[in-house]
Amino acid sequence: MKLTFLGAADTVTGSRHLLTLGEQRLLLDAGLFQGFKTLRERNWMALGAPATQLDAVLLSHAHLDHCGYLPALRRQGFKGPIYATPATRDLCDVLLRDSAHLQEEDARRANKEGSSRHEKALPLYSVREAEATLKQFAPLPRDGKLRLGATDVRFTPAGHLLGASSIHVSHAGRSLLFSGDIGRVGDLLMPVPQVPAAADVVLIESTYGNRLHPAEDAQAHLGQILRNTFKRGGSVLLPSFAVGRAQALLLLLQRLRNAGELPLDVPIWLDSPMAELATEITLKHARLLRISASEARSLTDRVHYVTKQAQSLKLAASLAQPRAKPAVVISASGMATGGRVLNYIETMAPQARHHIAFPGFQAGGTRGARMVGGEREIKVRGQWVPVNAEVSQLEGLSGHADADGLLQWLRAIYANAARPPEQVYVVHGEPAAADALRSRIQDELGWPVRVPQHGETVSW
Ligand SMILES: [Zn+2]
Repeated sequence: MKLTFLGAADTVTGSRHLLTLGEQRLLLDAGLFQGFKTLRERNWMALGAPATQLDAVLLSHAHLDHCGYLPALRRQGFKGPIYATPATRDLCDVLLRDSAHLQEEDARRANKEGSSRHEKALPLYSVREAEATLKQFAPLPRDGKLRLGATDVRFTPAGHLLGASSIHVSHAGRSLLFSGDIGRVGDLLMPVPQVPAAADVVLIESTYGNRLHPAEDAQAHLGQILRNTFKRGGSVLLPSFAVGRAQALLLLLQRLRNAGELPLDVPIWLDSPMAELATEITLKHARLLRISASEARSLTDRVHYVTKQAQSLKLAASLAQPRAKPAVVISASGMATGGRVLNYIETMAPQARHHIAFPGFQAGGTRGARMVGGEREIKVRGQWVPVNAEVSQLEGLSGHADADGLLQWLRAIYANAARPPEQVYVVHGEPAAADALRSRIQDELGWPVRVPQHGETVSW
């Protein structure tokens, strides 16, 4: 087996790993690089291996840093199947279209403002290309098992996000386990990750490789934020990923409402057409959730949807009025890198009575990371906006296992295995996080482990 790290090898985004098995070439994930501009520029480069020679893509889950490069790969000539769980496929339908739409908007804006260095800015891919890519998705049987020539593939539920999986690949007596993104024990919506089969080599994510989730529960923290903010007449903005996070927030808000902590006259606005679609998909696959069917159905009770951009701008402006009644707004994107959440940041950030609570991890270089880091002025659509609102981070909503959880995941896999892995590669983390997890695996488990470099090839 030969593995080439084409992304997420020195950073937390751009998950792409090329697996060469004799003549067969499988790409594990095809994710977008996000965050710092130098990383995002990698999205414009070719994969680093001929896309036409790929036999298939095995997709761990629907987050863009895992699937968002797929249409670009198609443009480079990849016409093969993309294997993913049915829920991942449904979510990709929403996410890839939206990603393409944002790419088209960016290109349009660059052309209008003349800010592109190129003659004419082009989108990384178009909505039509995203739609064509969706046709390449191949359904995975319910048991998650697949045979591709002489290669056996098995998808195992990884918690983290609807449909998310770890992927075990075996070929000619050798094997690899790719963690994908690992969910955490105690996730609001997703059950505990299942334990996959042991493999010779493990590729493990390290998003939270140097952090532990605080013991406090998200519901109590959010309840406190709501109470304090409403008391001073402010509103609460929850910048959120449309998929997964937004549904977890709806669940928390419904529970707070049932507990009498969110008054009935305080409206919940869901300003993200994509979150609306993702909520529908979540309900369609409700059997994958850990909550009851009836609680799943109640997620959307008394939730107001903002469909049009004009409506969004109007609501954002109205919340900044001196006598505005408190409200809760969930809007995307989750790291405030773009999207309608900027409408609210523009009007709410300058006012001290409001609270902007970022749920979950904020990648370096994003507006969310800067705000959580305490910057008192941020640039939005070319204008400097003062940040006087309270800004906080809701850690309890992360969809990722923390460092203890990652070690626990590894321990559980090898608890009954004949031998430990020959090698562990730590990927998908900021350098400090990846290195921290590497040293814990070395010290606490005593297994051979290292952090690979971008572009490096290893074989076993
Ligand atoms: Zn993910």
